[in-house]
Amino acid sequence: MATTFDFSQWPPSLTDSQLETLTHHATTYALSHGLTYLPPAPTQPSSPSSAIHAPISLLPAPVPRSLFKKTQCLQSVYNMLYARVATNDDFLDREMGAEAGVGKADEFVRTLWKGWKDIRDEGIIQPLHLGLFRSDYLLHTGGGDGTLSVKQVEFNTISSSFGPLSERAAAMHRYLHALTNYYDISPHLKSENFPPNNTTSGLAQGLAEAHEAYGVTGAYILFVVQPDERNVFDQRWLEYELLENHSIRVIRQTFAELSSSAKLDPETCVLRLTIPSAAPNSSTLIEVSTVYFRAGYTPTDFPTEEHFKTRFALERSRAIKCPTIPLQLAGGKKIQEVLSQPGVVETFLSSSDTITNHTTDDAASLRETWMRMWALDTPTPPLPASIPPDAHKAENEPLGTKLARINASSLVLKPQREGGGNNVYKSDIPAFLDTLTAAERQAWIAMELIVPPAGVGGYLVRAGGAGGSAWTSWEKIVRAETVSELGVFGWALFGKEGIVKERGDVGWLMRTKGVESNEGGVAAGFSVLDSVVLV
Ligand code: ADP
Ligand code: MG
Ligand code: MG
Repeated sequence: MATTFDFSQWPPSLTDSQLETLTHHATTYALSHGLTYLPPAPTQPSSPSSAIHAPISLLPAPVPRSLFKKTQCLQSVYNMLYARVATNDDFLDREMGAEAGVGKADEFVRTLWKGWKDIRDEGIIQPLHLGLFRSDYLLHTGGGDGTLSVKQVEFNTISSSFGPLSERAAAMHRYLHALTNYYDISPHLKSENFPPNNTTSGLAQGLAEAHEAYGVTGAYILFVVQPDERNVFDQRWLEYELLENHSIRVIRQTFAELSSSAKLDPETCVLRLTIPSAAPNSSTLIEVSTVYFRAGYTPTDFPTEEHFKTRFALERSRAIKCPTIPLQLAGGKKIQEVLSQPGVVETFLSSSDTITNHTTDDAASLRETWMRMWALDTPTPPLPASIPPDAHKAENEPLGTKLARINASSLVLKPQREGGGNNVYKSDIPAFLDTLTAAERQAWIAMELIVPPAGVGGYLVRAGGAGGSAWTSWEKIVRAETVSELGVFGWALFGKEGIVKERGDVGWLMRTKGVESNEGGVAAGFSVLDSVVLV
């Protein structure tokens, strides 16, 4: 679309005293409404006594209405696509397996895939998978003709976080608007331009549907969490919603705790946990209907073999997993790249479906949001027009690697990892490629960089003293040039027979980072929680 909105004029100016007042109202609202984190500490206390407000933006970030709507409309297509990828064993074996796929080169992927393969060989007990998804996008100005589009950064199938906190960030902006009218600084800041965002109920509904499909009254939903997690309130809001509006109880445990508390019934594979009961020195057994992983997406979540054993026991169980291992593998950057190859996504969306009635047009709409991606080890990536087709022949490197060298300044390289901080950007790429063995190349993809609007900024507020090293030179509030990443939530409960239930209108997340930071993880301290103003 052609843009009339001038991003370089955002944010509108605020006086120092207006900034101070807005910051005061924003931080007190955040603290009152659980838009919070636990404070940094080497070890989190089991019963904390304090919280800090999450890093936040004082004004919402502008997004053209039609592009925002497009991302919302695509979510059900993505739900369907990833349900189909996760239930296509041959495809996942080929791309992520230990014999021919990324598992050959990447030990973490290999371990997960092998665990899944063993369980498959024994026979899958629970045919259903639950995915709580988040598709991430940036605005892109790089079409070359002055138009603006949305481009997908990645698709998350595990531990898709910040649903509840993003709902609260949006509510905070609506509150600031209602209270101060944002001092009439912009005609865009009016309530009809603040889209609704009810992620908490939407995501909890997905978990509740899985619980209901499992069908045992009184069973619990298990949240598998990381030890010393600071982003606990984002998770707690889902627990409260499940209890208050669905009468479902949640138990939170780490892999280490589960290694002694979890038992599978040898006959039925029912997952039961031994938990302390109210009476002194006694315990009780609870049944688990659904396992929701907020841990297990990164190798550091598995410091010992025992941690993997526990992960596989949960996978083997009758409980419904969010996600299963195949669904986790489907979220790999490799899969994103393979889907973008000519004809591939079309094979997943070409048949019509009774729920969302997908057609090949859906594949075309997804493709519109994709940047060019290729594998470092393939000889035949799609060639950028600027590269002569025989450019690779001079050197003993696969064309994919050669192209990554030549185009480094407009690329990011990504491994099969989640959680931020794993990618290699631009001028770091050539030297990094020198360190990769031929075998290791298979674990990485190259992706063209999305080019967000330049000159757009925001007022970013963080609790003093909190955050990672990227923040240390920042004041409590700074006006910074920024990049904003939109995440769109959806969920699907599905099996090999197809989708049981799905929702593509669950809500969204806006995260804003300083433009100088390549990465954008809020939890990692590089970015702030934000919301959307439609322009
Ligand atoms: P992770 O799963 O670790 O979050 P991402 O693919 O989201 O990995 O990459 C992390 C961050 O890197 C993103 O939030 C975004 O800020 C930046 N990034 C990733 N891909 C691109 C891209 N193609 N163009 C511009 N920035 C990107
Ligand atoms: Mg991710
Ligand atoms: Mg990401």
